[in-house]
Amino acid sequence: MARASRLFPGGVNSPVRAFGAVGGSPRMIERAAGARLWDVDGNEYVDYVGSWGPMILGHAHPAVVEAVQQAAARGTSYGAPNPLEVELAEEIVAAMPSIERLRFVSSGTEAAMSALRVARGFTGRSKVIKMSGGYHGHADGLLVQAGSGAAGIGRPTSAGVTQVVAADTLVAPYNDLPAVERLLDDHRGEVAALIVEPVAANMGVVLPDPGYLDGLRRLTADHRALLVFDEVITGFRVSRGGAQALYGVKPDLTVLGKIIGGGLPVGAYGGRADVMALVAPDGPVYQAGTLSGNPLAMAAGLATLRELSDEVYERLERYGARLEAGLAEAGAVSRVTRIGSLLTVFFDDDQRFARFFHAMLEHGVMLPPSQQEAWFISAAHGELELAQTLAAAREASREVSS
Ligand code: PMP
Repeated sequence: MARASRLFPGGVNSPVRAFGAVGGSPRMIERAAGARLWDVDGNEYVDYVGSWGPMILGHAHPAVVEAVQQAAARGTSYGAPNPLEVELAEEIVAAMPSIERLRFVSSGTEAAMSALRVARGFTGRSKVIKMSGGYHGHADGLLVQAGSGAAGIGRPTSAGVTQVVAADTLVAPYNDLPAVERLLDDHRGEVAALIVEPVAANMGVVLPDPGYLDGLRRLTADHRALLVFDEVITGFRVSRGGAQALYGVKPDLTVLGKIIGGGLPVGAYGGRADVMALVAPDGPVYQAGTLSGNPLAMAAGLATLRELSDEVYERLERYGARLEAGLAEAGAVSRVTRIGSLLTVFFDDDQRFARFFHAMLEHGVMLPPSQQEAWFISAAHGELELAQTLAAAREASREVSS
């Protein structure tokens, strides 16, 4: 880590890995298998980071490893169409019928950024609405959140994002339909799209209130703005068809990533055929990528989706329910929210979370190093991991409370 710190800002290649919210030094991971990670010092951890979402089958799943090895032996990138792109796209379209046509990219950031470009091209409008606390990657216009409390014109959350770009992003609180209605009324004819995580998973897991997603569908349709679901986390996670299948709401465009790449770099955006018809080379909205549809990534995604049977989702739900109940009993925790294999443990304050996090780490359980991030359960988590996690949580609760 000392060498890493000399080379990389914060010693890491993505900020949340740096333990900034909990203090201490990140573990340098050497290998992973199933539900477990091993660091370079030989310590073993039950893993709830799951690479922040992709690893729904667990690490180094044999089917995924084999698919990647076979693909690699046939060449790692062609810059030309390959059959695996078609097969993966067909799996996605079958699971999410709102997606009629799509485009693969290399990250969720790229997918969200591109989806909004298409929405602007389609509507000829410039503004977008996002929710405070919603994360859609680090494209300039999406690094914007509400000022204190009320909805309003966004200010940049990051240095380096200009006021000009930020001014096109309007922000409403999650689960607040009247706020969205006000923004659409105040900016009548100006809003190209509303982008939302249908289940918020970047401010801890927050479920949509009954009627919220339906309301967003109705309001955006009334104002002829496109509804964009960011299912980078929820796609193939909360159900095979994502949150849109679970809640029965059909977006115009969907943004995907994580699970569809099986742990390799992938994103995708897609939806209505008439909207996607604008994407180059069919239409005037430019979007391209050297490694888009990369055969290794397609192979890993395809192998992953093919393993995701109903039985896997039932197993994830069972584990999640037992983990939730066990954590709620552990003491230090003030509240647990969960949907299937996504879970957040809320504490009264961040310091309490930091102490709990480090106590869990000492007892061999790797949690996401921030209270705002969801825990990700995989299909490789079993009885042993559950018992170990809950024993650690009881110990950690005692230590945090003393
Ligand atoms: N959207 C959501 C909902 C996400 O959670 C993330 C990443 N955690 C992104 C977009 C961005 O994806 P990536 O990190 O692959 O760019």
